[in-house]
Amino acid sequence: MRPLAHLILGAIFSYIVYLIFPELGLKAFIILASTVLIDVDHYFVAVMTTGKFSIPSAYFYFVETLNNKKLHNERRLNYELYIFHTIEFYLFLLVFSFSYETALLVLGGVSFHLFLDCFNKIRKEKLSVIHHHLTKRNENGKRRIRKK
Ligand SMILES: [Zn+2]
Repeated sequence: MRPLAHLILGAIFSYIVYLIFPELGLKAFIILASTVLIDVDHYFVAVMTTGKFSIPSAYFYFVETLNNKKLHNERRLNYELYIFHTIEFYLFLLVFSFSYETALLVLGGVSFHLFLDCFNKIRKEKLSVIHHHLTKRNENGKRRIRKK
């Protein structure tokens, strides 16, 4: 999922959390920030892979990957590790969330981010039979319409 989508949906999510827990005040921004900033690990992967620190270079690395499914699968399976999207990082936050409120807020944002990533994966990789049938397209790229 693109960073702008994470930003918009993260803003909505953190605002809803703020409405439920108004005592959070500006701390609700921690949820929004963690929803978006977790993807900084994509930048780390691009830097380690290309050896370039420039943000545009990292952006083009991922555009190239997104536009080439074979390359995407090869890179993802062989050597890309998104450290903030791992179960170990999630468990690390979970453990600290019992002691630190900030860790709990970050955990909320990270959980929401991972939920969005999973939803996006279901949409893209057809992990749902229902979604597949609702969005199946014919060979012309048009939505399949049942004839009566
Ligand atoms: Zn992500």
